[in-house]
Amino acid sequence: MTQLSGTLYILSAPSGAGKTSLVKALLQRDDQVGVSVSHTTRAMRPGEVDGVDYNFVEMDQFNALIEQGQFLEFAEVFGNKYGTSQQWVREQLATGRDVILEIDWQGAEQVRRLMPEAVTVFILPPSREALRERLDGRGQDSGDIIDQRMAEATNEMSHYPEYDYLLINDDFATALDQLACLFRSRRLRQSAQQTRHQTLLAQLLSER
Ligand code: 5GP
Repeated sequence: MTQLSGTLYILSAPSGAGKTSLVKALLQRDDQVGVSVSHTTRAMRPGEVDGVDYNFVEMDQFNALIEQGQFLEFAEVFGNKYGTSQQWVREQLATGRDVILEIDWQGAEQVRRLMPEAVTVFILPPSREALRERLDGRGQDSGDIIDQRMAEATNEMSHYPEYDYLLINDDFATALDQLACLFRSRRLRQSAQQTRHQTLLAQLLSER
């Protein structure tokens, strides 16, 4: 029987749009999907776990991985390097599992070129005010730092027209439902169903 390969999803968003929380919640209700753990040179934040949130590496390790051709894509975001491991993604897709890449617009551009069948989703906040509030976080940062984060977010958001799907994360539960629906509906494509239900389809069309 022909092996059904999984779908590759690229999810991008400005920080503060709630992308990571949506992905975590989706993984809890959908066991046919996995998320790629990127490599990064940025410092670990409190609460992050090496190998779970990211594979945290030094710059020379990162450069060696580039040289070895280990990355499907890589980019510099806010002064740090980020990259997606090629091998893991391809292995997962080959076993029929769907894979999510949480990457920025530059990485999305590279993956789109290599794998045009990838499904791309951009997640937006409901308003600039809501984004500003989310970026302010604990209210401990100066106005200048928040202005800088807003400018970076605006730059990321300006790339939304390059994506297949747009999701507005206003009410979390609604946005999660929309994302889950997208994943479910992609699995019902005729080509995917044909591979999955070959025997049934052959039986239905046989005259005996
Ligand atoms: P953070 O450091 O806040 O977790 O992520 C900063 C930005 O880097 C986010 O826009 C995130 O999507 C992006 N990013 C995370 N991992 C990767 C990756 O492997 N490749 C690319 N191109 N961007 C990434």
